[in-house]
Amino acid sequence: MKKLVFTLACFVSIQSFAFDTWWHAECTRKAATANGFSGDARLAMQVSNYLTDFFAVVHDKANVKLQKANLSAFQFKSDVSYDFLHFDAVLNNDQLEHNWKYLWQNTTTLLRKYSAGNAAEPGFRLIVFFNIIGASLHTVQDFYSHSNWINYHLQYRLLDIPTWYEASPEERSKMRLYTGIYEPPFNGHPSHESLNKDNSQRQYNSVAVQIAERASIEWIKRLMDSVPEAPWGELKSYNIQNNMVYKNFLSKLDATFVTSSSIVANHFDGNKPLKRVFSQDSAKERVQAGIILDATLSEYATYMVAEKNKFGLPTPYWAGFMGYFISHDLACGLLLNNKPFSSARTNCTASYKPADDEVKRKNQSGNDPVTDNPTKKSTEKSGNNKNNNNSGNNNNSGNNSNSNTTAPGNDKTPAPPAPPSNKKPVIRTMPKDSVQVKRKTN
Ligand SMILES: [Zn+2]
Repeated sequence: MKKLVFTLACFVSIQSFAFDTWWHAECTRKAATANGFSGDARLAMQVSNYLTDFFAVVHDKANVKLQKANLSAFQFKSDVSYDFLHFDAVLNNDQLEHNWKYLWQNTTTLLRKYSAGNAAEPGFRLIVFFNIIGASLHTVQDFYSHSNWINYHLQYRLLDIPTWYEASPEERSKMRLYTGIYEPPFNGHPSHESLNKDNSQRQYNSVAVQIAERASIEWIKRLMDSVPEAPWGELKSYNIQNNMVYKNFLSKLDATFVTSSSIVANHFDGNKPLKRVFSQDSAKERVQAGIILDATLSEYATYMVAEKNKFGLPTPYWAGFMGYFISHDLACGLLLNNKPFSSARTNCTASYKPADDEVKRKNQSGNDPVTDNPTKKSTEKSGNNKNNNNSGNNNNSGNNSNSNTTAPGNDKTPAPPAPPSNKKPVIRTMPKDSVQVKRKTN
């Protein structure tokens, strides 16, 4: 267990990728509640929201350490799609407009796709919707943490800060907007570290959270208005309390996994979280979280070797997310360091051409609201970015996604067996070459 705690702490302490989990979860909770969703629906969205972040972290840091810690049971594999879902390294107004447009388009297209026909296995349909809503919310929320949107408004004493959609395109075009870059060379562009508002120790965190909450409420409302054919009634009244299997996975295992793995990794709310989950004693908090995480992982591992678990993933909620390539579909065309995400797996081919006015603006200089440095922004090739390999040719996620696969947790067919808690979990060993770190990280 100690080894596990140490490993998880190592792989995330270097950098955080998003609003920390507590803030994402809070924004998602308020968005779900304000729009009339049940507690179970809210939790399903929160778990899906977290997977976006969790796998992005693992994707970067997945290595031998994870396998040694028996985390191989989860088939953690590199998948570059996750990197595109955090509004990182979006370098100028034109690119931000592009990303917002694609995120909206991708999300609504997915909702329509799964509203119609048999795009998902019957028992999987609602889970996939929660995956789409939760994961797209993650990206919406990260914009306010990773961009200079908040900084810009505060810089000019514009205290009534709008959401992205509350500002008109014309208003937005007058602002100079961007998000932070993760890895050098920065070429004069603000780094993620200088800009992020990911946890309560970061400047402007509470302002960013407030706007992200409002934006999350707005996002779901817009989705409901724009895709009325989605099963909103069923989604809002989602209730699994009488289903021992789903209840076990979502309310017990997944919810516990979200909090315990985040705390162990200092990703719940930074190094000094404002809120404690497992112990009021701050020293005991992480130790307790480590013990609880270990127990959760064991239960997941048991389910993974169950015969009916066709996806080979820990829970139906994870399986929906990965088995249906939600992150690929959501990331299609989104930009990171000047490059759009493409995925052969989901037939997503994307290209990006800067708008003419953005090309003209490229060489103009100005003062940077964040760093107050002369601007040398944007479309320079950064060479050493996170997305050199963005063709979607990874080996990841959900190996059994063909339409004949019986999804676990079908409402009408037998649900996946609950992990027998009295049985020692069997850890399935992955082939040695199945985890590949595709990108060099410095
Ligand atoms: Zn994120």
